[in-house]
Amino acid sequence: MHFDTLALRATHQPDPITGAVVPAIHLSTTFARNEANELPANYMYARPNNPTREALEKALALLEGGVAGLAFSSGQAATMTLFQALRPGDHVLLSADAYHGTPALLEQVFHPWGLTYTRVNMSDLDAVQSSLHENTRVVWCETPSNPMLTITDLLTVSQLAHEAGAICVCDNTWATPVLQRPLDFNCDVVMHSTTKYLSGHSDVLGGALVFRHDNEFTQRVRLLQGLSGAVPSPFDCWLVSRGIKTLGVRVRAQSVTAQAIAEFLDGHPAVEKVHYPGLSSHPDRAIIHQQMNGPGAMLSVQVKGGADEAIRFIGKLNLFTRATSLGGVESLIEHRVSVEGANSSTPSNLLRISVGLEHSEDLISDLAQALV
Ligand SMILES: *Cc1c(COP(=O)(O)O)cnc(C)c1O
Repeated sequence: MHFDTLALRATHQPDPITGAVVPAIHLSTTFARNEANELPANYMYARPNNPTREALEKALALLEGGVAGLAFSSGQAATMTLFQALRPGDHVLLSADAYHGTPALLEQVFHPWGLTYTRVNMSDLDAVQSSLHENTRVVWCETPSNPMLTITDLLTVSQLAHEAGAICVCDNTWATPVLQRPLDFNCDVVMHSTTKYLSGHSDVLGGALVFRHDNEFTQRVRLLQGLSGAVPSPFDCWLVSRGIKTLGVRVRAQSVTAQAIAEFLDGHPAVEKVHYPGLSSHPDRAIIHQQMNGPGAMLSVQVKGGADEAIRFIGKLNLFTRATSLGGVESLIEHRVSVEGANSSTPSNLLRISVGLEHSEDLISDLAQALV
């Protein structure tokens, strides 16, 4: 099946009793036993499992080509639960250019608990190789990365991880399964902030993990999900499932506009550099071609000058909302260092753009008037 058909089928279960085409939202936290004290549908209590979340989890597994999906109350809750499945003394290898919340969890929460971690440039395969230790349990990639849009060769990095006895996890939030399916490139786990493209309308916080194998590690993460309860509400699960129905059309349309914007900005006299996988100047074109179906709808631009010039530019925009986050139907722009803080290694003139569903000509005219 093509992705769009799969996304529709995976989230479509007409109710056998009522005939309702749109699935119900099951708010019940508890489930009744029959006279023989059995649970007829295996649901007991909503923290470990409930029908609305289970429907979303099955859909997530199908979309990513995995055998099991788990939904969480945020992307960070998904990441947190995965690291909780490790043990003191384990080592994590993390890409240098990763969503800032991932190293923050490792530093603030898991380092005091005895996990160690190293950050490495995942494009430098020799550096990846030499940073793998015998206690490395997880290699954590994010591609395209945030905010520099660097690309990790998933097939090679997952092979290096496996040779070292580690699993390879890919944060697939930016690419989405429309453009990239990491499990097809031998990654073991896919992580998502469903807050972004999967829900797609900037109105729900959520996260997900999808597993390639249903093994001991998967069972342990599932156990932790139910025990610790960083789970999404039934309504939030329903919203993400609804978002998935239009994921393909949204991401493809947003990518076409992002390509036009990247080409407009690239070579503009007020622009220093554009970071976008769809530009022929991107250093990782061969890998992009191998593992992605399109360049995506996220780009970063460095304007000439520093933070002042960057902030003055976005202050003049009318059609881009100055806000963090990404993946919604409305275009957003943000000065990334303002979000990441003083310790950030992101260039001070860098602006990150999440391209929405507005018409590309309107967005480009808005950028043009603000850049002069
Ligand atoms: C937003 C984001 C996260 C964190 O997800 P939350 O839903 O905000 O907890 C993780 N990774 C990437 C790439 C993100 O964009």
